[in-house]
Amino acid sequence: MYQPTIGLEIHVELKTRTKMFCGCLNDPLEKHPNINICPVCLGHPGTLPTINKKAVEAVLKLGLALNSKIPETSKFDRKNYFYPDLPKGYQISQYDAPLVIGGELNGIKLRRVHLEEDTARLIHSTDDAHSLVDFNRAGVPLMELVTEPDIKTGKEAVAFAKELQLILRHLGISDADMEKGQMRVEANVSVSKDNELGTKVEVKNLNSFRAVEEAIDYEIKRQIESLENGHKIRHETRGWDEFEKKTKSQRLKEEAHDYRYFPEPDLPLMDLTKFNLEELKISIPELPDQKRTRFSKEYNLAPNQAEILIEDRLLAQYFEEAVSELDAEIGGIDTEQRGIAIQTLFNYLTSDLKGLMAEQKIGIQELNITPENFADLVVLINKGELSSRLAKDILKEMFLSGRDPRQIIEEKGLKQVSDEEIIKKMAEEVVAENPKAVEDYKKGKETALQFLIGKTMAKLKGQGKPEIIEKLLKETLTKTK
Ligand code: ADP
Ligand code: ZN
Ligand code: MG
Repeated sequence: MYQPTIGLEIHVELKTRTKMFCGCLNDPLEKHPNINICPVCLGHPGTLPTINKKAVEAVLKLGLALNSKIPETSKFDRKNYFYPDLPKGYQISQYDAPLVIGGELNGIKLRRVHLEEDTARLIHSTDDAHSLVDFNRAGVPLMELVTEPDIKTGKEAVAFAKELQLILRHLGISDADMEKGQMRVEANVSVSKDNELGTKVEVKNLNSFRAVEEAIDYEIKRQIESLENGHKIRHETRGWDEFEKKTKSQRLKEEAHDYRYFPEPDLPLMDLTKFNLEELKISIPELPDQKRTRFSKEYNLAPNQAEILIEDRLLAQYFEEAVSELDAEIGGIDTEQRGIAIQTLFNYLTSDLKGLMAEQKIGIQELNITPENFADLVVLINKGELSSRLAKDILKEMFLSGRDPRQIIEEKGLKQVSDEEIIKKMAEEVVAENPKAVEDYKKGKETALQFLIGKTMAKLKGQGKPEIIEKLLKETLTKTK
């Protein structure tokens, strides 16, 4: 039995205002090439880098959030290699004294987190005859997180990367969008039959969570088959081919000594005791895992429901504000009733209201409906004063006009008819007018009753309360021969 082992190296672009070692705007998505540049990030001779303190703080904050160790000192090193995306011929990175050591996430141990500078973007012409270099991205603060080889499957790797993405977003360190290249995952994969780790292969070119999972699972299979056929695994870098769904050899892996690392002479040693770690710790907001626990405890949400809110900070905020309005209105009622009302609120928020927002392409910030009015609507629904059909109409009206649900109901005369007198009269009319359906019902045809309920509802212009209609229709039907 082969045992797969995976370790991840994840690069993340930090969203600081300026670049890592100069004052240029940090905007790697800027479409116009080479405008956020200066002699420092172009690597002109004679220029000197200065450390962006905000970038350092962001990494320390992540370290604190992941229960890592923050050493007393840290330093930058030069990683030397020649490639056109690197104007200086070396990258300022960190080698043996990273900012963050150890820690844990999703049950997986972390090795380190360090800081470096991003490279320029190369644009290759379609004929492969020449390449263009856009330096807007050169010098953007890039964080690298390295895990221990603690992961066993592609699925586990994805779960880890997704959780990290959520945490980065909660901390406001990065938007960590994989499609935009803000978060890049590389997977080291090996397989072994004994307790010794096998030779690892580094898989690159993973541009989505799906690619991470598929590439790792493919690579595990490939290595096992290769060993079974009597071959050795080569220590190499392979690229994931999204179309062929295969990893392909890119180059043999270079070793650390190939990079001729040495301490960056133009930057001082960092004294991390000078950073106010206590203050940084306090600035850490509630993290996804704490939210999961609280959402379950305070609102009794199911795990998949909580997850919808955790993935969307603004939606969660709206939800919590609406629940607190709901509590203010129905305060004091028993927890079971409150639980039901919260479920109604959650459902209308995540299906109907989210649907309307998607349809009209508006975000929650532009939403017209106050959490208070939304809670009002939920109260009306839960009191049985509105059928779900009517509630949807009113929600749409609230969405368009931003008005109070009670006001809309009154103006439109939309109040649900629960007056038994009126409903009874309509039910009797319907029974008299539809002898065939009545006969079918008597023969035991369930659909006939639905038909009669529909007819009665139509007479009430859709505003009857379905349960009352059904009850009164049945009463009328038992009385008719
Ligand atoms: P390198 O020096 O080749 O960069 P490192 O020891 O720095 O290798 O590890 C890089 C990544 O590879 C880490 O995430 C680590 O957990 C992972 N890794 C190390 N050895 C193995 C292995 N045998 N199988 C799978 N992953 C490994
Ligand atoms: Zn610059
Ligand atoms: Mg390494």
